[in-house]
Amino acid sequence: MKRVGLYPGSFDPLTNGHVDIIVKAAAICDRLVVAIGTHPAKTPLFAADERATMIREECASAARARGCELDVVTFADLAVEAAGRAGASMIIRGLRDASDFDYEMQMAGMNGIMAPAVQTVFLPASPSMRHITATLVRQIAGMGGDVSPFVPAGVARALAARFARPK
Ligand code: ADP
Repeated sequence: MKRVGLYPGSFDPLTNGHVDIIVKAAAICDRLVVAIGTHPAKTPLFAADERATMIREECASAARARGCELDVVTFADLAVEAAGRAGASMIIRGLRDASDFDYEMQMAGMNGIMAPAVQTVFLPASPSMRHITATLVRQIAGMGGDVSPFVPAGVARALAARFARPK
């Protein structure tokens, strides 16, 4: 039986922390579906299709090298619904610290009641990635800071272009 995992998040933009989790998840999934959440009330920095392209470009070959097929989808409903559509038996989440833990345990508990057949699988952030958040990446890039230690090179270029000041 194929092991299918769904990794939901905003990925606005993809960071090295997300890539770290995708690479780890690829080692335990035959197919990994990265699911980009879209919220009608929120205006993202990057459109969903731009985020999807970043994820494919930066992660597909690393996943393939681990015997895992990578797909990217968008969803605007519950993660458990997206997991059902993807045929996923696992929801993958990354854990950075205690503040992630409390919230993630609440979500895992409620998702487990809504969809008992889907297991939440927590993967620990690698120590060098624990501090990275997409929110701070957006703020630093918006103020002209160097985000290259925190995101893949292609994402750093996309951020620089997005915040480029007209000359
Ligand atoms: P962020 O919290 O950075 O805005 P997302 O909402 O896209 O990111 O998070 C999606 C998932 O990725 C969550 O499970 C989150 O804990 C995980 N994640 C985000 N950043 C990291 C990181 N630096 N290391 C490990 N997991 C992470």
